[in-house]
Amino acid sequence: MESVIQRITRGHFWDFHGGIHPPEQKFFTSNKPIKQLVLPKQLIIPLQQHIGREGDLLVSIGEHVLKGQALTLSTNPMVVPIHAPTSGTINAIKMSVIAHPSGLSQLCIFLDVDGEDTWRKRDVCPDLEKLSNHEIIEKIADAGIAGMGGAGFPTHIKVNRKPEIKFLIINGAECEPYITADDLLMMEQSVAIADGIKILDRLLTPTIILIAIEDNKPKAIKALQQATAAIEKIKVCIVPTKYPTGGEKQLIQILTGQEVTSGRLPIHDGIIMQNVATCFAINEAVRHDTPLIRRVVTVTGQALNKPQNVWALLGTPVNFLLEQCGVQDIENEKQPVIMGGPMMGFSVFSELVPIVKTSNCILVPSKIEMPSAFEKENKEVECIRCGQCSDVCPSQLLPQELQWSAKAKDYSQLEKLNLSDCIDCGACAYVCPSQIPLVHYYRIAKAEIREQQQLDLKAEKAKVRFEARKLRLEKEKVARQEKHKKAAAARKAAMNKATPEATGAKSAVAAALARVKAKKASQGQDQTNTPVTQADLATETVDDQKSQVAAAIARAKAKKKLKEEAAQKPLSSNETVDKVVEEKAASTEQVSPDDKKAKIAAAIAKAKAKKLSKSAEASDIEKTTENTSTEKTVNLDDKKAKIAAAIAKAKAKKLGKSAEASDIEKTTENTSAEKTINSDDKKAKIAAAIAKAKARKKLKEASMIEQNDQDSV
Ligand code: SF4
Ligand code: SF4
Repeated sequence: MESVIQRITRGHFWDFHGGIHPPEQKFFTSNKPIKQLVLPKQLIIPLQQHIGREGDLLVSIGEHVLKGQALTLSTNPMVVPIHAPTSGTINAIKMSVIAHPSGLSQLCIFLDVDGEDTWRKRDVCPDLEKLSNHEIIEKIADAGIAGMGGAGFPTHIKVNRKPEIKFLIINGAECEPYITADDLLMMEQSVAIADGIKILDRLLTPTIILIAIEDNKPKAIKALQQATAAIEKIKVCIVPTKYPTGGEKQLIQILTGQEVTSGRLPIHDGIIMQNVATCFAINEAVRHDTPLIRRVVTVTGQALNKPQNVWALLGTPVNFLLEQCGVQDIENEKQPVIMGGPMMGFSVFSELVPIVKTSNCILVPSKIEMPSAFEKENKEVECIRCGQCSDVCPSQLLPQELQWSAKAKDYSQLEKLNLSDCIDCGACAYVCPSQIPLVHYYRIAKAEIREQQQLDLKAEKAKVRFEARKLRLEKEKVARQEKHKKAAAARKAAMNKATPEATGAKSAVAAALARVKAKKASQGQDQTNTPVTQADLATETVDDQKSQVAAAIARAKAKKKLKEEAAQKPLSSNETVDKVVEEKAASTEQVSPDDKKAKIAAAIAKAKAKKLSKSAEASDIEKTTENTSTEKTVNLDDKKAKIAAAIAKAKAKKLGKSAEASDIEKTTENTSAEKTINSDDKKAKIAAAIAKAKARKKLKEASMIEQNDQDSV
């Protein structure tokens, strides 16, 4: 049976399912050389221009950079650095719209070009024998090379493969109807491309190298045949023109007859594919120390005066390219600008969108050329189930069913229908009679699925982190507890030893415990004693003051009475009222011998009366105390006042027997005028008054007995 290599050598190839033959429009640019442009005034360089993550910034605003200087640092294999395409000053680092179907914004470096185009120092290496494979791969990684055919996968990862490689396929098919960038590059840079292929050959050591070029590029075929003629393992394969031959899986099938099944990568079957532009970039990086800072872009379409391929610095705004290629009506907002070819491209939302590593074409069509691009209204109608889309699908999918599931956001069904195998070639939409923008729906669905997958991945990572932390904390807790347990056991064992140290430690502990207990007891005593003593002192002081005040009031009243009595009596020439009062007051303490007898009798009577009065007062107070316990303090105070009043009354009685009763009454009444006494006190006083009245009666009786005794004498 004929081997694959024999078949290829004879120029016989396989075919893939489906595909279309859109009218070719390569003639706009295929016969013109690649143009070198003047430097634009400003470049807008997105930090991420590949599949993967953006690198860490190495520059800041205001910094002057040289051509080829790294602007970001790769800290991860999936990070590809970017470089300054020319010398200039960093004007800004901010979000800006990038080349993406959704009009996505991304962090970009705005570089003001100084016009000098000054290179950084370069380490040119014409002799590759001096470099190890590892050094070559490092150079490729440092140069920031990512797949330039459109995928943007980091090249240094792709070329650092351990498995055995059977086929290294160099993709020069370029099947999009308008694009000629690779065609021109192959024509003009065939030797450099061949040198790049040699580097890949060294790194990957494939069994055979196949350069695939569609048969509509005769000049490119010839150029590469000449450039690689000396290398036996390189075969230039002229494949039939058909869209999308340039698709990775489709080209593999054409060249090898092998179908890369869903979910598998070509590397799993020992196949690696690189674009011709990537081969050129590898050679530039390894031999000339030139990072990926420019690329060939096909600027084409009937709306341009000078459509052609140009060497565009990465970061060049689309409007600058259009100006250079003579756009006829750049101010016309209705003029569509498509990034990429007519089959796989997308409209750009701003003419400031910059060229990146994967940009290969800017299409500016006229209305006659591409009327659908000018239509603002969606002319989509219902699917008629004609099945044409399925017939042309190179991935053998069911585009109409994918479309329904995409509209319904039924992601599980989309997975079952192998949406991930769709290469966005647009062949289905191209043939759809219902004008359904099928690829548009697939792109939206893919973006949503990707977003959901990233969220799921984040959630999964967070869950793993949480579980790990929980486990770690649990382990630490157990270890801590074990440590404490061991320490306690060690302490206990040490204390129980009959050594002087253990005894000393025990005594110290006991002493410490005793000190703590003593301190606690002392604190408790202080807390209970201090407030009680102060309260008692305060109460006593108040009681004393009240008693003294009551006594003073009583004395003053008694003195007043004496004055009134003295004023009513006739005075001798040598007497004054005050003198008489003083004498009377003094007589209360110096009783004359003549009155002694009578006063003794009166004192006995008074004592009896007092006794009765006190007992009545005491019983009244007792009753009051029983009625309300809260009035105790008040009654006690009143009692003191009354006792003081009673003393005063007794003194007054000594001064004049007839006046005694009324004096006591009045003094009592006056005393009762002390405003602090409440209604209950009044009751007590009434009871006291009754007792006093009884005492007065007894006094009178005693006085009469005394008078009778005197009469009888
Ligand atoms: S865009 Fe996708 S579904 Fe449509 S033909 Fe291409 S691969 Fe098939
Ligand atoms: S080509 Fe269009 S109309 Fe026909 S089946 Fe596919 S989606 Fe439906």
